[in-house]
Amino acid sequence: MASGKRILIVGGVAGGASCAARARRLSEEAEIIMFEKGPFVSFANCGLPFYIGDVIEKEDALMVASPRLFKERFNVDVRVNSEVVSIDRRNSEITVKDLSSGETYMEKYDALVLSPGAAPVRLPIPGIDLPGVFTLRNIPDTRQIREWVWEKGSKSALVVGGGFIGLEMTENLVKRGLTVTVVEAQSHVMPALDPEMVSPVHSELKRREVSLRLGESVTGFQSMPDGSIRAGLASGGEERADIVILSVGVWPETKLAREAGLEIGDLGGIRVDSRMRTSDPRIWAVGDAVEVRDFITGGWTLIPLAGPANRQGRIAADVILGRDREFRGVQGTAVCGVFDVTVASTGLSEKTLKRLGLWNGDYEKIYLHPAHHALYYPGAKTISLKLIFSKKDGRIIGCQAAGKEGVEKRVDVISMAIQSNRTVFDLEEAELCYAPQYGSARDPINVAGMIAANVLRGDSSIAQWEEIDQGAPFVLDVRDVKEFDKGHVEQAVNIPLDQLRTRMNEVPGDRDILAYCLVGQRSYYAMRLLSQSGFKAKSITGGYRTFLAAKGGK
Ligand code: FAD
Repeated sequence: MASGKRILIVGGVAGGASCAARARRLSEEAEIIMFEKGPFVSFANCGLPFYIGDVIEKEDALMVASPRLFKERFNVDVRVNSEVVSIDRRNSEITVKDLSSGETYMEKYDALVLSPGAAPVRLPIPGIDLPGVFTLRNIPDTRQIREWVWEKGSKSALVVGGGFIGLEMTENLVKRGLTVTVVEAQSHVMPALDPEMVSPVHSELKRREVSLRLGESVTGFQSMPDGSIRAGLASGGEERADIVILSVGVWPETKLAREAGLEIGDLGGIRVDSRMRTSDPRIWAVGDAVEVRDFITGGWTLIPLAGPANRQGRIAADVILGRDREFRGVQGTAVCGVFDVTVASTGLSEKTLKRLGLWNGDYEKIYLHPAHHALYYPGAKTISLKLIFSKKDGRIIGCQAAGKEGVEKRVDVISMAIQSNRTVFDLEEAELCYAPQYGSARDPINVAGMIAANVLRGDSSIAQWEEIDQGAPFVLDVRDVKEFDKGHVEQAVNIPLDQLRTRMNEVPGDRDILAYCLVGQRSYYAMRLLSQSGFKAKSITGGYRTFLAAKGGK
């Protein structure tokens, strides 16, 4: 398409705003109009929880760009409080309702971009619309939550749903001095991750005196005479709080697209091709509302994240204005801070692999717990990292990590490796920044690659923590006696690594040996030593630390 087109954009935040700005940079001739049903455009939804916690002190800071700036800098006509209520595809026309006056009018388009986002899920349970029960999506929601907390002097909060937004709200409400309880239907918070990787988050929440009700769901709400809200629980119990935040996921806004007869995918999002084009060649869709391809599986997926929405908006503008651009698909690369702990992930979790039946028996996983920078430099913090890769060729499938420092940096590197179809052998060889205060000469990324490559080359035989309870292996703890005495696997026999050569007669030759240490390094040495002496030995990846995390300990 040539420039000079009339481009109409529905939704003025992440995807919509980036599309509008990009379109203008590519074409001075295009007429660009952006419709937003809310009162604000281009605000930082990701910053909303932090404004509630007063970490971000001024609401203005959340406003990335105003309608005025859009007009003056980009010559984009921004119409707030303007809901697009229908699309007439035959006449390439939309109907817009001015929410201030109630009047409707039509606008013609050459290209239409839908970026309506996703709405918070509201559970179909009694009392869901009671005052004091909130969801969080935009500035008006944020104002209402702040006002409720301030005006009512709320002392306690119930957060329903322990995903990213729920946990960010938890942290920020605690920072406001509220006592918070989190109810989560799954057995662990951050349900997108594997349970053993979330253990540091559970510990941190407990340390911050957040009460966790895991494997529990809310059945309804009731207003109590003292102004509090009572939440009934499926187990028969109840929770009471002065405010409830519902954060049980989001659902793509597809009403407009559906009513216009655009193709909707099986997962409920607007179907688009890799150029962000819908089933109508003059209509594009981006952001939380669309179903896109998963970069790893190639299947359809819904990933409501700001990064993909921004990139898709830009790609839609490029394609509309004649450039050949394609979206690569999503990996779900995400990070969340929970007080002092950072958790990040990219690619597929083991849970997802099992649910989809992918790489059946053909994937391997390793755990490691390296320091985020050189141990000898003060302040080194542990990162717990899980890497999942193909047994066949070492292709990286997914990574999750938790710790206090340097977590997202490692996950970002692995995210890029996944997007470049790299393998664990590439991680082994990656050349990364190093000075003692930032990393190690063998960065955790290199170490992850080395451990995985050792497994694939047959230099390392590993076992998983689950195998401790399977069959009747001889469980060998090769840590020092003092470490062993502080806590160990129940059936383990302790032979410290440095004594193993002289005490090898205590190791049975007719049983599988599962050696472990704290994190998997000394047990790897033990495994090498034992294997070369004729024993059937394996090293438990991630060691006692992963075992404890998996068992729900520290
Ligand atoms: P949105 O940004 O939601 O914008 C859609 C807009 O379209 C809305 O303002 C809506 O009012 C408008 N609209 C809908 N229908 C119409 C219509 N018919 N007419 C006119 N306007 C319409 N992602 C991250 O990656 N990292 C984070 O840390 C993070 N934190 C978040 C925290 C919170 C509290 C929330 C709510 C989201 C967070 N996200 C985060 C998700 C991220 O904000 C979204 O993925 C991103 O904003 C999606 O962009 P979008 O353009 O698809 O939708």
